[in-house]
Amino acid sequence: MGKKELTNLFSSDPNRYYKVSLFDRMGFKRQRCSSCGKFFWTLVERMLCPDHENYSFIGKPPTNKRLDYVNAWKETEEYFQFNGHSITRRYPVVCRWRDDLYFTIASIVDFQRVMGNKVVFELPANPLLVPQMCLRFNDIENVGLSGRHYTGFCMVGQICNADAPGGYWKDRCIDLDYGLLTNGLGIKPEEITFVEDVWMGAGAFGYSLEYFVCGLELGNAVFTEFEGNENNYHAMTNKIIDMGAGLERFSWITMGTPTSYDCSFGPVIGKLIDATGTFENSDILSKYFEAVSSKLDAMGGDLRALKSLIAKELKISDEQLKKMIAPYEAIYTIADHTRTLLFSISDGALPSNVGGGYNLRIILRRALSILERMGWIIKLEDVADMHTDYLKQMYPELDEHREDVRTILQIESGRYIGSRERMSAIATSIKSSKKKVTVDDLIRMYESDGITPDFLMEVGSIENIPSTFYTKLAELHTTQTATQVQKPIYGLDGLLPTRLLYYEDKSIREFTSKVLKVIENKYVILDQTAFYPRGGGQEPDSGEIDGIKVVDVIKQTDIVVHKLQDARDFVEGNTVYGIVNDRRRDLITKHHTATHVLNTSARINLGSWVWQNSAFKEENYARLDITHHSSLNREEVERIEKTANNVIRQDLPVIIRLFGRGDAEQKYTFRIYQGGVVPTNNIRIVNIEGWDVEACGGTHVNKTGEIGFIKITKAERIQDGIVRLDFVAAEAAISYIQKQENQLTAIAQSLGSSKEKVVESSQKSIDDAEAARRKIKTILRKIAPSMAKSIIAEAKQLSFNGIKFYSVYDEELDDEYCIAIGEKSVEIDPSLIYIALISKSQGMRVVVFVGEKARLKIKASIIAKQISTQLGGSGGGDDRFGQGGAGGNGMIKDRIKEVLLSAEELVMKNIAG
Ligand SMILES: [Zn+2]
Ligand SMILES: [Zn+2]
Repeated sequence: MGKKELTNLFSSDPNRYYKVSLFDRMGFKRQRCSSCGKFFWTLVERMLCPDHENYSFIGKPPTNKRLDYVNAWKETEEYFQFNGHSITRRYPVVCRWRDDLYFTIASIVDFQRVMGNKVVFELPANPLLVPQMCLRFNDIENVGLSGRHYTGFCMVGQICNADAPGGYWKDRCIDLDYGLLTNGLGIKPEEITFVEDVWMGAGAFGYSLEYFVCGLELGNAVFTEFEGNENNYHAMTNKIIDMGAGLERFSWITMGTPTSYDCSFGPVIGKLIDATGTFENSDILSKYFEAVSSKLDAMGGDLRALKSLIAKELKISDEQLKKMIAPYEAIYTIADHTRTLLFSISDGALPSNVGGGYNLRIILRRALSILERMGWIIKLEDVADMHTDYLKQMYPELDEHREDVRTILQIESGRYIGSRERMSAIATSIKSSKKKVTVDDLIRMYESDGITPDFLMEVGSIENIPSTFYTKLAELHTTQTATQVQKPIYGLDGLLPTRLLYYEDKSIREFTSKVLKVIENKYVILDQTAFYPRGGGQEPDSGEIDGIKVVDVIKQTDIVVHKLQDARDFVEGNTVYGIVNDRRRDLITKHHTATHVLNTSARINLGSWVWQNSAFKEENYARLDITHHSSLNREEVERIEKTANNVIRQDLPVIIRLFGRGDAEQKYTFRIYQGGVVPTNNIRIVNIEGWDVEACGGTHVNKTGEIGFIKITKAERIQDGIVRLDFVAAEAAISYIQKQENQLTAIAQSLGSSKEKVVESSQKSIDDAEAARRKIKTILRKIAPSMAKSIIAEAKQLSFNGIKFYSVYDEELDDEYCIAIGEKSVEIDPSLIYIALISKSQGMRVVVFVGEKARLKIKASIIAKQISTQLGGSGGGDDRFGQGGAGGNGMIKDRIKEVLLSAEELVMKNIAG
């Protein structure tokens, strides 16, 4: 059903859908816009709906209250609290509870959970109010310029389940919103307009009333009443009210500042104006931004045309106007981008080249390039601090992450400066090549060099960002995850869920069970099983069923499928006997719990941005991928290892319990979703008491002491923002250390030393080798002149111009020797050409020197190239010195004479020519 059909449906019966009791009580009248035909409700008669109205509140707010951002929230909070609403703390801006969203884009998203392909609502209280920070990156170009666009903004959510205890429906909702506007914000009733609208979501829809004051939309109350489509729909059993209002606008309507930025960033704008020494011409600026704020939409969003128009009105040139407002646009943009980064980094996101981190790096680099263009010496981390100082009264958690945010912003700013030169060079070469840059080019440049199309546009290398760029990039990263999905097994329809014995009693290793189905002579489905199937990064159990080897175990929906080496003799309905490999399960279990221990250890030692990205648990090793900005050094790895082993020695209890999803989220926060979203109502919480709490379906030890020992074997940065920790635990760790020790003993023996002195001994042999090399160099220097003289004497005198030719092949020569002698020889005799072929274990090396006089006839590079090519390799160099070589030994040796002869011919030909 389209929006038009829905509008017709609801508008045809306004008394049923839109008329609320307030309208009757106060005398609001339904009217139709003479311009666009929309229906709206007001106390005083109006021809036009608010869409056609300029922002008449700028400079003359319609209330005596003046509420800055934080006070606008306090007023709203107090009002709704007084009216029976629970105040819910904001949810993270990183949307960990839905895998279809990176960021929280609206307040209602907090309470939506995806089950199958349906969205369900879960409210922690009813009714409630939440000051939800939301991030949106679809309109970055307008942020800082339009006066009202943001990448991060606070959507006040008034949320209610109408059919649950405490719930209410549209009459009370609009009563409350009207009360907030008039009593809370102090706006006169005649200024308020309610506009009829519709709302559509996935499988549900409803009608809505948007409320406007002086042309500014303040909020939208959505009444989600129906499920289904236009032909087949029914009222929901739990109707939802979703009223969302921009806090930035609540403040703006009472302050009447030229832009909403001026009042929404508290003292930050003023501080930035001071810090940058920006000149204030408040009269022109007010007029300009007032016009932009209120007329941009009417101009079809064409900011450039609007600027020209305003310049004319103000009787100044376009250029003058541009110069005057550019610093303000810069300040607004930087304030917005930094605030968005502050919230997202506080909530555990990292700027990177992948996933949601991509958008964060884009705005971060955009802010840095603006600072650079304006020539301002301001650090983003200091701007973030200004925001925190102001916002901590509303969001105290920001203060806790202050240092983490500073760290990440510092690292990322440093990276930008580091890559800028390279980026500029590439941008310049694109500009001069005049070749058309394709979307694929842009993607390649972004993936390999971190060059954003925004940067290329900024420096003028490209004219615009192709609209398909972001979608293509997104697709590229979705296919990566899609490949991990296992191929489905067909034929499970109608089977009952498998009874999972490994959850009921994790010590069960032997069991009897009934065969429910055999598929393709290899897949066996039982009514109950103790075999743990592959899942959550944990590898499956192995073992036997009726003496036949189990090679794989997978879970499809709620049915466990055993893949057997051969299931031909299995008969449906028969009872079978299963044995789970005890040692394997035991080791996997220890590695799994070790992953939880290590994950929190990494976070505590590195920073709050550390999250599990993925994990893999096998019998003899495991790995944990964590989100972190840089490679780890030795000392960091040791600290993580040490802390983890302390936790093992403390022998902490591991408690596993089922919780309702909402309860688990409220009690333990979204940190429980380390392994990703859990699509069920009941969540299995694995709690290592006092250390780590995660939602997890894996097998775990009873106390951390059972893990015995954790050893990190490797720490590697595997992609931007992700570090992989390879590790071993329990018996696997002992085996690993024993193997290491054996290797160490072998090394010590080869050095003629002992294990204890192996470092000393190896250092000594390195020192000895270094000293010997130095000695050889000195000797070479001393003997070179006399060797050179004998070479010159031996050289073949060619018939023209006195050019001399010398070539040598010897299996005992070495590069360093030949280079020293060759160099000296052509220095003493400028007409000499010196060629040496040096036999190496992996092939042949070619060294060519050509003296100053001989160089007039032939270049060293050309000789080196010919010889190397003939030997089956490649070579090059410059006029004086050429080198090259070829791999593979035996065949080359036979051709040496021939090759040197044809080199001589080449020289002869060149001299003659
Ligand atoms: Zn209209
Ligand atoms: Zn786990």
